[in-house]
Amino acid sequence: MKQIILPDGRELCYELIRKRVKNINFRIKEEGVVMVSASPKVPIKYIEQCLAKRADFFFGAFEKIKARKAAQTKSTESVKWLGKELPIKIIENSRETAVFDENECRVFTRDFGTENVQNLIRATKAERFKALCAELNEQVRAELKAKGLEPPPAVITIKEMKSRWGSCSYARGHISVNLRLADFPRETVLSVFWHEYAHFWHHDHSDRFYRFLLDMFPDYHKYNDVLKTG
Ligand SMILES: [Zn+2]
Repeated sequence: MKQIILPDGRELCYELIRKRVKNINFRIKEEGVVMVSASPKVPIKYIEQCLAKRADFFFGAFEKIKARKAAQTKSTESVKWLGKELPIKIIENSRETAVFDENECRVFTRDFGTENVQNLIRATKAERFKALCAELNEQVRAELKAKGLEPPPAVITIKEMKSRWGSCSYARGHISVNLRLADFPRETVLSVFWHEYAHFWHHDHSDRFYRFLLDMFPDYHKYNDVLKTG
């Protein structure tokens, strides 16, 4: 293995193979070494000039390899989704998206950097949670109607909140749901919807409120109490 020192002090390693190629070929080797194949006629000095000229490209490629390796060793990391820990699997692909299924979270990307991977997962999580909230909202409204109650029109807003899992502005017909609920089981998210809808009829946390809530969703404490310990 040979080495050249660049004007800025960086060291670039390369391995030279002489063979009957047209001019010079460069190939990146995993360990951060450039493989050079060159015709016996090409002088070393010229080869090293070419390497120095392309140095930024080579170091950029080494960084990418390093980031990919780091991401792969972190494959034991997981994402919380509806009460499950989904292991993260990174697949090299230009789709730039994350997909959640029953058993894993697959990230399709060309950029294995942690920040990019986390951003793709966050976007999918928010999108899937939004769809789930729309579904649960419809479910609660349908059950209320089936029990002869007419729920007022409600606008659902999903946002990250620090101190509350949900809130209901009954006067404005607004329900806010904490995005962090996406970590918890579906029924726990449902329990928050029932709680907030109950506030349309009872504005405080009185006994009457809880009687109404438990009448509508008898498993309320079973699923909602996990939020108190979390
Ligand atoms: Zn409340």
